[in-house]
Amino acid sequence: MQMINDALGDDAPLILIVEDEQDVVTPMEIKLKLEGYQTRSALTGKSALTEVFREPIPDLILLDIMLPDISGLDVCMRIREAPQTSQIPIIMLTAKGEEIDRVVGFEVGADDYLVKPFSIRELVLRIKVALKRTMGTNVEQPRKSTFGSLNINYDTHRVYVDEEEVLLTATEFKLLSTFIERAGRVQTRDILLDVVWGVQSYVQTRTVDSHIKQLRKKLGPAGDFFETVRGVGYLFNAPSGNRVV
Ligand code: CA
Repeated sequence: MQMINDALGDDAPLILIVEDEQDVVTPMEIKLKLEGYQTRSALTGKSALTEVFREPIPDLILLDIMLPDISGLDVCMRIREAPQTSQIPIIMLTAKGEEIDRVVGFEVGADDYLVKPFSIRELVLRIKVALKRTMGTNVEQPRKSTFGSLNINYDTHRVYVDEEEVLLTATEFKLLSTFIERAGRVQTRDILLDVVWGVQSYVQTRTVDSHIKQLRKKLGPAGDFFETVRGVGYLFNAPSGNRVV
């Protein structure tokens, strides 16, 4: 395995696979390496929390819910709480009937999920979508934006309100930057779904509402910049916006 990793070089995205069944992990590692990714794996929730924070920090995490020690949902929440890992895309691996609503909702903070059994093709597709959100998509964007008390740094993905850092998930950050790009224009739920989540039927329009609700809450006073336009969607309407390039 190590030899394949070395051959790929350091710039291939690193995927952490958290799954307690070695029989599932091994073929997944082999196939992801063939697709050009570097991989690292953890068989327990506890070792996952060690592997997540070990340099180099993974670019994406595949996280099984049913683990022998700590639940994958708890592992996900802990990853989200830490500033250095709060933006890493997380795809939960679930069995049928597990708590899918909680998984993609703001309570747990995963970006996506796959129900077992899934094809490697589907897995790779979801990985590409999730990585696109965080890697190399902001090249032509300004590095920083300031709107009153709200400060956004696009290089570090850090957000501050009144100089206090606000920890956002990858999806929340994408949602916020999308609103800023389109400031002053009403965004319908369908447009937001398209731009932030991609055209994927498994995410519903109420997901947009719950994410905006959570974003408003996290941003405190700056949350008021988001106006609800009844029957249409949302509008980012900051009083004194400026961009620093
Ligand atoms: Ca399992």
